[in-house]
Amino acid sequence: MCMRLGHAYLLVGDVQAATSEAKELARAGVCAGGGCNACKDCRKADSGIHPDIITVSKEDGKRELTVDIIRGLIGDAQILPNEGERKVYILPEAGAMNANAANAFLKLLEEPPSRVMFVLIAEREKELPQTIRSRCVIKHMANIAPAAVPDNELLTAVLRRDAIAVAAECVRLEKFKRDELLSYLTELYTGLVRKGQVGAAQRVGVYAPRLRSRMNIGSAQIAGELMVDLAELM
Ligand SMILES: [Zn+2]
Repeated sequence: MCMRLGHAYLLVGDVQAATSEAKELARAGVCAGGGCNACKDCRKADSGIHPDIITVSKEDGKRELTVDIIRGLIGDAQILPNEGERKVYILPEAGAMNANAANAFLKLLEEPPSRVMFVLIAEREKELPQTIRSRCVIKHMANIAPAAVPDNELLTAVLRRDAIAVAAECVRLEKFKRDELLSYLTELYTGLVRKGQVGAAQRVGVYAPRLRSRMNIGSAQIAGELMVDLAELM
């Protein structure tokens, strides 16, 4: 992934979606490859330990993001990045800036130091003055409901790391018709992916194509091999 980055973003809408988008943007910002997913900067960004990704929040107990906080940010932004391509400032409560803070921040946006990027998060656009909004790339973040996970007995057994249930279910699969087994394997694969079981999904993913392409392999053989394969993961 290589994208042209703006120097200021305003993410509005769903806070959870905005927070994960902010992380993506921050990773892209510190990485010389625009978020290559492979370099030291990307890895540190993913682990939340990159020194050039700085979260700027309200002081404890304060209702507003004050001008003192913004002045601190402005001072820090004049100093070059420690390691990354840019310094990325994430303001998760940008909408809480009071008028003085917003004025100070606007001056910074008008003449941003080099190698700096800002990611502002607010529930509604209107929480920030038009003068700031007009200098940001605005992204509306929708709430993403988690995708449904299929109800599949082998999936449940694999997730529980229950070797006996896995074996029993594989024995049952031996008697499946070819197309029944195909749709079962597809469902299992989808479920594993959605549950983030990458290793298991990779193992399972090879069976449906084999079953589809080779008529001389039957359900019994596939189910038997699958059992052995999955047993290694238990
Ligand atoms: Zn990278």
